[in-house]
Amino acid sequence: MKRFLHIGIDDTDSPRKGCTTYIAALLVEKLNQMNLKFIDYPHLVRLNPNVPWKTRGNGAICLRVYGEEETVRRVRDVAIEIVEREADLKYSGTDPGMVLYYEETVPSEFQSFAERTMHDIVSSDDALGLIRKFRAEAFAFKEGRGVVGALAAIGSSLQGDHTYEFITYRTPKNRGTPRKVDADSVLRMNEKFDSLTFNNVDLENGRVLIAPRGPDPVFYGIRGENPRAVREAGELVKPLEEVERWVIFKTNQGTDAHLRKVLKISQIQPYRPVIIKGEVSSKPRTIPGRHVIFSIIDESGSVDCAAYEPTKKFRNTVRKLILGDLIEAHGGVRPASSTHPLTINLEKINIIHLVPKFTLRSPICEKCGKSIKSMGKDKGYRCKRCGFRDREAEKIVIESKRNISLGLHVPPLRAQRHLTKPLSRYGKEKTGVALELEEPWHKP
Ligand SMILES: [Zn+2]
Repeated sequence: MKRFLHIGIDDTDSPRKGCTTYIAALLVEKLNQMNLKFIDYPHLVRLNPNVPWKTRGNGAICLRVYGEEETVRRVRDVAIEIVEREADLKYSGTDPGMVLYYEETVPSEFQSFAERTMHDIVSSDDALGLIRKFRAEAFAFKEGRGVVGALAAIGSSLQGDHTYEFITYRTPKNRGTPRKVDADSVLRMNEKFDSLTFNNVDLENGRVLIAPRGPDPVFYGIRGENPRAVREAGELVKPLEEVERWVIFKTNQGTDAHLRKVLKISQIQPYRPVIIKGEVSSKPRTIPGRHVIFSIIDESGSVDCAAYEPTKKFRNTVRKLILGDLIEAHGGVRPASSTHPLTINLEKINIIHLVPKFTLRSPICEKCGKSIKSMGKDKGYRCKRCGFRDREAEKIVIESKRNISLGLHVPPLRAQRHLTKPLSRYGKEKTGVALELEEPWHKP
């Protein structure tokens, strides 16, 4: 008899070791050897990046397979063995979780749970309740908070807008050393696959973005619109070290899946990533740490918006906003503390309306045409050049040019979050159709 299995895993990595996608890659290999068939590409689901306890990328994974009942029943032990071996169990913040669900169709309640994990704070108890109700299996390592993300990964169907990532991995002996990749080959790949991939290179400074830093096993990843494009682009990159394996993931990266429109500023809540419209109500100011802060207001209240230092040039755009400009702020919400009020950590701004900007200039001397200076309050003006005095003169109001454009403004690529939809993806949004998996989509 045929059996289906959805297996979700989360929170196996730490800042010093591992990557949940690598566990997925190892598991793909095993399941393939066991002759199980994959219903879809492995899913890499980035969860709400604003929860206080997130790991580095906050990415959970889900594999969906079917095969002989007896074989499917063996997956659990295989997966547990890989997690126990690869997860950074000694790290205090790493609490892996694994959920297995043995039906073909994922319950809609899993889907709404997944939605909530994207936009809200959910608890392990919520997850465990659903796991019990639908007779799924859960394995919690240590604190087991990973069960939340594991269940959310199963519930995320990725049928709305989605993207793909071709991820390559390093051999154990190279991990922890600088990644070696031929930068020219990356530039060539980027040119050829410009319209079908994204976030490969920061063209402003020529920086290659496909390879992360840090000790994790990821070598480089190519993000894009379809499985074939990311593979072909990935194969154009010339590695200067051994590639251990690669896998293509279907993901919600670059889709803005975390952002939700909120109608009133008064409805904004901590940790919920929002899109909110408001009028600039305080002048952008730079605070220590070179962050730029301003506030927006609507009829229900006001909220602070912050462009933090790592967003670099984006802060210059933000600094050009003036009182009365109408914008849409996109970003995660930081709770209020003793040092700052509720604050939107800006991931983007959409400028909807710019008010005219007026500046005052000194009046012009009637005699010689040069600008004249005030002699003090109510004393009129006097020309320094010819000595002409003008009691009636007043400052001139001039409309000055706004050096800022309407529309979306985003931070430089390397300051963007995994989930942030880059400008280049606007208009490429797609909805999911069940596709046959195109071989090859993984390689040991
Ligand atoms: Zn004069």
